[in-house]
Amino acid sequence: MSWETVAGLEVHVRLATRTKIFCGCRNAFGDPPNTLVCPVCLGLPGALPVVNEGAVDFALRVALALGCEVPEISVFARKNYFYPDLPKGYQITQYDRPLAVGGNLPIEVGGARRSIALSRIHLEEDAGKSLHDETGGSGDTRIDLNRCGTPLIEIVSEPDLGRPEEAGAALESLRRIVVHLGVSDGDMSRGSMRCDANVSVRRSGDTSLGAKTEVKNLNSKKSVVRAIAAETSRQIKRIERGEDVIPATLLWDEARGAVRPVRAKEGAPDYRYFPEPDLRPLVVDPARRERVRRALPELPLARRDRLVVRYGIPETDAGVLTASRVLADWYEELAGRVGDGKLASNWTRGEVLRTLMERGCGLAELPVTPSALAELLRRVKEGRVSGTAAKRVFTRMVETGRPASEIVAAERLERISDDAELAALVDGVISAHPVEADRARTGEERVLGFLVGRVLKASRGRADPRRTHEILRERLGRGSDRGGDA
Ligand SMILES: [Zn+2]
Repeated sequence: MSWETVAGLEVHVRLATRTKIFCGCRNAFGDPPNTLVCPVCLGLPGALPVVNEGAVDFALRVALALGCEVPEISVFARKNYFYPDLPKGYQITQYDRPLAVGGNLPIEVGGARRSIALSRIHLEEDAGKSLHDETGGSGDTRIDLNRCGTPLIEIVSEPDLGRPEEAGAALESLRRIVVHLGVSDGDMSRGSMRCDANVSVRRSGDTSLGAKTEVKNLNSKKSVVRAIAAETSRQIKRIERGEDVIPATLLWDEARGAVRPVRAKEGAPDYRYFPEPDLRPLVVDPARRERVRRALPELPLARRDRLVVRYGIPETDAGVLTASRVLADWYEELAGRVGDGKLASNWTRGEVLRTLMERGCGLAELPVTPSALAELLRRVKEGRVSGTAAKRVFTRMVETGRPASEIVAAERLERISDDAELAALVDGVISAHPVEADRARTGEERVLGFLVGRVLKASRGRADPRRTHEILRERLGRGSDRGGDA
């Protein structure tokens, strides 16, 4: 009997607004505990929340980019529960009238694309943070309320994911989209995106849904995939033993690679939702909706498709280049200035990304601009600087911030165009390797290749490999390649 997974995701994305969602406190990560708080986000009596319209616009960007329907009116609601890091005793969220409904998230698994149906997107505030055993390791718990009131959107999918890998792809796709839209840094390691998964199983071909559990604390793409796979097999084992799947909230333990129960699943009635009395309904009129829609940038998958067509590069390369909007912008500017999309792609994916990794910095901190690199790559394209020499020039450009032309001139890295100069290098290599030269004369191609390599090295990458080959053959008395005598 074969089984299938039915999973849905609930993803919280922290919006990168300057201030919190209902007060003027700075919205930041990593400040000293309890320094970014005020009466509103602490929930002190009498304090009144005011909606941050910037957070609403950010949420609208995501909703419209994912094709959701945005009703003109949505309503904030109180979700009541007690938790030590929630001093108000309730969270302001949206319940039966969310900001946006429907929509689709495009995903790609193993080259095949499909869309995951979304159920809703709503705005809410985050709670604070409990810090366990972080100060002295004596089993203490401390509370940091800086995160209270930071703006979140919750994106809820339909139970539309059939395999753990699809959930991983959905999370990655969503991360790229929110980063592309400029509404979040999408940094899962800092909690900017947090994911819960609803998981149930059913026999293949069955159309009804089985009892589901909710797995929390999935904070990376890898965790989502592993957790859904683990929960799927746990449920299948139970059913095959004749036991029921009990609806529950489970916590994913990444280290153990297993789920553990935290509590029985609460239903909506437990939270006693009611409309937030301190906030008016949120109005998004058609003009505002259109203003946000018109300003939407191209989304990652669409941009990838366009790069493939426009610059003639492979889809996988375009995928790397559209990993972030900044990188894609950088690449497109370079490609435009060089007039060669493939060359620009090779360099962006190769030298540029490698340099960023080595220096641990972003493109903004790279001392080489697209226009500066384009100047170098035009020389490569015209055959005036070899690929090897160009890499040396680029390294010097990164180190010194000087333009390619200066470095090429100062370090004499222009390709050798004078045959006499090349012949002198060839002769030097022949006399330094008499044994190999003799073997090359008797027709050992591999040794000939070795000698070419020596000449290129002696020229510091300035020699043209093909011309070197020709001159070397002449000097060894083996004639030209082109006579078909090899
Ligand atoms: Zn505040």
